[in-house]
Amino acid sequence: ILEARGLHKHFGHLHVLKGVDLLVQERELVFVIGPSGSGKSTLLRCLNRLEEPSAGSITVDGIDLLDRRTDINKARQRIGMVFQSFNLYPHMTALGNVALALRKVQGRGRAEAEARAREALDRVHLADRAGHYPGQLSGGQQQRVAIARAIALEPRVMLFDEPTSALDPELVGGVLAAMRELRESGMTMVVVSHEMGFARAAADRVIFMDGGRIVEQGPPAAIFGAPQEERTRAFIGQIE
Ligand code: ATP
Ligand code: MG
Repeated sequence: ILEARGLHKHFGHLHVLKGVDLLVQERELVFVIGPSGSGKSTLLRCLNRLEEPSAGSITVDGIDLLDRRTDINKARQRIGMVFQSFNLYPHMTALGNVALALRKVQGRGRAEAEARAREALDRVHLADRAGHYPGQLSGGQQQRVAIARAIALEPRVMLFDEPTSALDPELVGGVLAAMRELRESGMTMVVVSHEMGFARAAADRVIFMDGGRIVEQGPPAAIFGAPQEERTRAFIGQIE
């Protein structure tokens, strides 16, 4: 349902993505690993059009994201994104943060937005924290609010860029559990993360990126257990 072909991205003289082809199937969880600076975040940001690719094509459900005639705001709603930093509004409750997206992005009325926001918070097991402000929530709970905010918009694909990197170790599990439940509910997901245990347990496919290219990809057991490429072996050896 998500297809990128020949993606290139330049930042001035820096050639960061050097022709990335990525096809993500419905309900697939694709896990992306690679050294710092290999272009993982840039790839996700291009998929969501937060960055403009220099070349290539991206389609979601057959809709061309780079076509000028495509309503980018509508198209972008099909792709949810969760970052390392949760970026919640501190002066709004959890419910308010989730409902705001529904009102601003989808133009829903207050009552409907709040009902949908409650459902989304319930899916990440935070229904009882709906009235809390971000400052009254742990980092893990705040990240789950950010996930609720994204899934409330009913995206076709969810992109996660190091969703647990900013969290204390004891809070990581709750966020990974929420991601796993989301996946079990049938969500299509692309995840950049260092949580290799999660990758082994939950990923359908692991992609290893280096130097702006996909070097190798395959099932987690193959990539972690028997990587074919020297660069993949070196990277896996380093992290384990
Ligand atoms: P990390 O694991 O550290 O998050 P990454 O694989 O996500 O790394 P990117 O953030 O995609 O890497 O960055 C790839 C390269 O592009 C880096 O050299 C980075 O400095 C550069 N880069 C990223 N964003 C910009 C930008 N907005 N302007 C200029 N250079 C950028
Ligand atoms: Mg990154």
